[in-house]
Amino acid sequence: MRTRSQVIIVGGGPVGVGLAVDLGLRGISCTLVERRIGMHKIPRGQNLAQRTLERCYFWGCVDEVRAQRLLPPEVPAAGVTAYKSLMSEHWHTFAGREIVSQYYFQRNDRMPQYLLEGVLRRRMAGIPLVEAQFGWAARSIEQDASGVRVAIENEAGDGARVMLEGDYVVGCDGGHSIVRDQAGITRDGSDFDQLMVLAVFRSRELSEGLKRFPMQSTYRVLHPELNGYWQFFGRIDPEIGWFFHSPVPADTTRDNYDFAALLHKSAGFKFACDFDHVGFWDLRVAVAQRYRTGRVFIAGDAAHSHPPYGGFGLNNGLEDVANLGWKLAARLQGWGGEKLLDSYDEERRPVFKEVGEQFIAARIAWEGELINRHDPEREGEAFKRAWAELKTGSGPFVANYEPNYEGSPVLFGPPGGVSRARGDHMFKARAGHHLAPRALSSGLNVFEELGNGFTLLAFDAEDDAVAGFEQSARARKIPLKIIRDSCAGGREDYEARLVLVRPDQYVAWTSDIAPADADAVMRKVAGRAG
Ligand SMILES: Cc1cc2nc3c(=O)[nH]c(=O)nc-3n(C[C@H](O)[C@H](O)[C@H](O)COP(=O)(O)OP(=O)(O)OC[C@H]3O[C@@H](n4cnc5c(N)ncnc54)[C@H](O)[C@@H]3O)c2cc1C
Repeated sequence: MRTRSQVIIVGGGPVGVGLAVDLGLRGISCTLVERRIGMHKIPRGQNLAQRTLERCYFWGCVDEVRAQRLLPPEVPAAGVTAYKSLMSEHWHTFAGREIVSQYYFQRNDRMPQYLLEGVLRRRMAGIPLVEAQFGWAARSIEQDASGVRVAIENEAGDGARVMLEGDYVVGCDGGHSIVRDQAGITRDGSDFDQLMVLAVFRSRELSEGLKRFPMQSTYRVLHPELNGYWQFFGRIDPEIGWFFHSPVPADTTRDNYDFAALLHKSAGFKFACDFDHVGFWDLRVAVAQRYRTGRVFIAGDAAHSHPPYGGFGLNNGLEDVANLGWKLAARLQGWGGEKLLDSYDEERRPVFKEVGEQFIAARIAWEGELINRHDPEREGEAFKRAWAELKTGSGPFVANYEPNYEGSPVLFGPPGGVSRARGDHMFKARAGHHLAPRALSSGLNVFEELGNGFTLLAFDAEDDAVAGFEQSARARKIPLKIIRDSCAGGREDYEARLVLVRPDQYVAWTSDIAPADADAVMRKVAGRAG
């Protein structure tokens, strides 16, 4: 076993494996430690956002990921919302991430998390710089000025212990992260004090019974008794595979509760089913107070955990990877400064805080309030208005989710800008925002040409403007690719002739003219200003 690598990753769920792939492809050696050998068979994060598929594209496995999809391609990621039960006369379909697809290079997709994880594990196995230790658990983490040490123990029970050494450690070890705890990082958030059940089951009769709806991925039930908490059925495959979430009383156990009756009540009809798994989770939103302390970082559920409402968990975890991977590589390769590492927390943590507050907790409160206000039996018209408001009001929870880093100290956001989850999708290139895709005159998409480091898009820009960036990048060994093209053919939608794009496809700086000091721009975006 290799005992020294540049980065030690604790936890080999999707976030840890994704980070190992990202770092390995950037030329960074890493050791990944995961206590499980096999893959869990609970579908978990099914809803893969466009950004997650963009990651898979850059990791060279997007086609393999898409090939794992179990539902027909035309089935949308979102679904149906019904009142009290799925047999209710009050129901509507709600929008999924499809509505913002034009702003991303990859469309969203859907599949059980373990199928995505399988592809990522295979991708990781093909990268020589990554060594994965499955069946080992991290027991202690220490750091000093020169590096980190992680003691790992074999889960086989033979007591074998090994000390790993590295420059940095990243805790991708889930909600109960020991890396977070040992780094002394505490969490804030909202505890809804609500126990939830997750049942995974097979039922052909349920699939038959839901043929009144166009085929959807999820079927939500809102009930006045549930205070805005969802009951929802999710399809694993088109025929028999299902999972179901619902609030349950606090003292519920596997043995003292009739889960089939709960499913029947929520569906509105009886059906035969075979349970494969019944588990519980607490409805809670928790965000770490820091994502970094010295040489220790946390990412994914270790940094933020929350209910599976809206598909934020897995996708946000992989966005942490997109943000942190290139920054760690830049620091280790000597062209990125300490400020770049600090910016991981400054960019990502406010985004997730707002996800928890404005997209998860606020939605539970808003839907609960609307559904409790009117009873269709007594106030038919008022109920219909509230129900219509629920449909139109759910759209912005999808459309306005546009994480951006306008407040970041390592890019040129607007004065007073803050990093947040809420924003507007547009083609205009704005510092702090994800770059939208556009075609180049070659016929390729700009995303197909972006470099692994920074990329300067120069559309009918003066040679001098480009030369200043090239000189600075060469002198400071910052990887920079130049893409020249005309400011036409749709590229004028960027509304800037010069667009500097980061390795995570976020825009760092824009202008129509050469900056007074291109070197100052490059120093800042590489975290080396001041
Ligand atoms: C029912 C359900 C549905 C969900 N639906 C969605 C969805 O639709 N979309 C979405 O985006 N998200 C969804 N999520 C959330 C998503 O599953 C998680 O956010 C995601 O798994 C987080 O990945 P992770 O790698 O950070 O953590 P995990 O998947 O929890 O992985 C952490 C890993 O660390 C390992 N580990 C822990 N401690 C140690 C240690 N000391 N040493 C070594 N290894 C260790 C664990 O074995 C585990 O494999 C859902 C979650 C649930 C439960």
